Amino acid sequence: MNIHEYQAKALLRDYGAPVSDGRVVMRAEEAKTAAGELDGPLWVVKAQIHAGGRGKGHFKEAGAGEKGGVRLAKSVEEAAEEARRMLGRTLVTHQTGPAGKEVGRIYIEDGSGIARELYLALLVDRVTSRISYVCSTEGGVDIEEVAASTPDRILSFSVDPVTGYQPFHGRRIAFALGLEGKQVKQCVSLMGTLYRLFVDKDMDMLEINPLIVTDEGDLKCLDAKMGFDSNALYRHADIAALRDESEEDPKELAASKYDLNYIALDGEIGCMVNGAGLAMATMDIIKLYGAEPANFLDVGGGATKEKVTEAFKIITSDDNVKGILVNIFGGIMRCDIIAEGVIAAVKDVGLKVPLVVRLEGTNVEKGKEIIAQSGLNVIAADDLSDAAQKIVKAVKG
Ligand code: GDP
Ligand code: MG
Repeated sequence: MNIHEYQAKALLRDYGAPVSDGRVVMRAEEAKTAAGELDGPLWVVKAQIHAGGRGKGHFKEAGAGEKGGVRLAKSVEEAAEEARRMLGRTLVTHQTGPAGKEVGRIYIEDGSGIARELYLALLVDRVTSRISYVCSTEGGVDIEEVAASTPDRILSFSVDPVTGYQPFHGRRIAFALGLEGKQVKQCVSLMGTLYRLFVDKDMDMLEINPLIVTDEGDLKCLDAKMGFDSNALYRHADIAALRDESEEDPKELAASKYDLNYIALDGEIGCMVNGAGLAMATMDIIKLYGAEPANFLDVGGGATKEKVTEAFKIITSDDNVKGILVNIFGGIMRCDIIAEGVIAAVKDVGLKVPLVVRLEGTNVEKGKEIIAQSGLNVIAADDLSDAAQKIVKAVKG
């Protein structure tokens, strides 16, 4: 789960990390009061969406010369005007994709004078199973660009969980970033704070880009992106409360309400499968026969008819779906339950695309019988590769 920059900065502030003072605004009328509570003489007005690259992004239907989602203002009035201008519009960045994201919240911040922009991230390194720091002198730009063009400017190392964070880790980062004097001490302290926050809250990603040296020579977190391990959210009610459902894919959101493991993808064949392993294999075999899956969907072991119906509705609500493949291996899950769910859903939402069903395992005969007697236009398949070939043929002709 991801959160907004202003929420991430509130967490940083709680833990004693240096951030600017700021106010979040949800309605245009609040903007002037919010900006007036900050000192100035510089204000930064920042669109809050769950995507980076806002500064270099652009609004849909933008006027000539109108720039991105991070704007500097020199007065309270100007800051309020910028906030009003951004609210409710769609911001497109290289991370949102062409559809962009609607801006529902604005963060107005006390502006900082910037001497240097640096890059810092903490993440879970899946190779070493440890928390890693990634830092670079090249801040404010995409780390992917730095990695591609000047990889020698990136320092990355992991922390042994037995010792946890140690001051030498912080000093190593400070020297790699070319910090001097009091900044070294600030860096050692900040890196420890970030490590503690990362572990305490079960994060899987924390990116500060840019981490700046201010005109006064102090370190400050100017941007903040945080991602949390969804499987650990049950023990962080405070983090779970920060969820902004308007930022999520509506189909994935509906799926999460029914406890379905669903991930939207770009292809044309919708898949309904039980078991994550079988779902992966189904996606692979669709690709093998020349098409692309529109989603990953694992209805789980003990799905009910209602859950299956809901899953089917989510798949059919995707306009990219040109055909559906139901692939069920009945173990704990019974094939007749799946058949009933599919039929209930089709009766409810209709079926505008070809549907191939492959059932195997517990109550398979009963399941096939239910489908055969339903009078629906369903293509039956005998095994996985037969099913994949049939749906690809039905979609691609
Ligand atoms: P992003 O584009 O979504 O990554 O948003 P950031 O928060 O990183 O802001 C983009 C850029 O705006 C930064 O790299 C800075 O150059 C600039 N910026 C953001 N806040 C301030 C500020 O307080 N003062 C100044 N001078 N520039 C800022
Ligand atoms: Mg940034």
